Amino acid sequence: MENNSCIFCDIANGVLPSEKLYEDASVMAFLDINPIADGHTLVVPKKHIVSFHELDSNLACTLTSLTSKVAEALLSELNCDGYNVLCNNGSAAGQVVSHLHFHVIPRFLGDGLLDKWQTYEYSEQRRSEIFDKISKRLS
Ligand code: AMP
Ligand code: ZN
Repeated sequence: MENNSCIFCDIANGVLPSEKLYEDASVMAFLDINPIADGHTLVVPKKHIVSFHELDSNLACTLTSLTSKVAEALLSELNCDGYNVLCNNGSAAGQVVSHLHFHVIPRFLGDGLLDKWQTYEYSEQRRSEIFDKISKRLS
């Protein structure tokens, strides 16, 4: 359940300090120590889970509910124009701390953060293969 060498487990257990904005028995929210915007917040399950797809539906519900409350608080208290909810899964996706977390990042018009995605087109054949694989897995 808990991972001895995990900084977010240490924060959950009170071993490492953090600026906790909220906590209850299963989830917590604290300020990111290295923010990309004022109020950049992390929303984290206390249980050591690495990736989003490992969440059970109860904890997913609790975690997304807190994420939504944090977003509302940022909108109303910081008067930001919008926000991003980001969840990096795996080092290929930029995950550095291997304990699941949602970033909630306040956004202001013209702030220039998180530049636009580079889009591209792939072949109809590849698209169709991918469509078949994923839809089969989901059915
Ligand atoms: P990620 O790249 O999605 O794994 O992001 C990890 C985030 O955790 C980064 O934004 C770090 O700034 C943040 N972080 C790392 N250590 C701490 C800490 N002790 N307290 C608060 N935030 C942290
Ligand atoms: Zn952990």
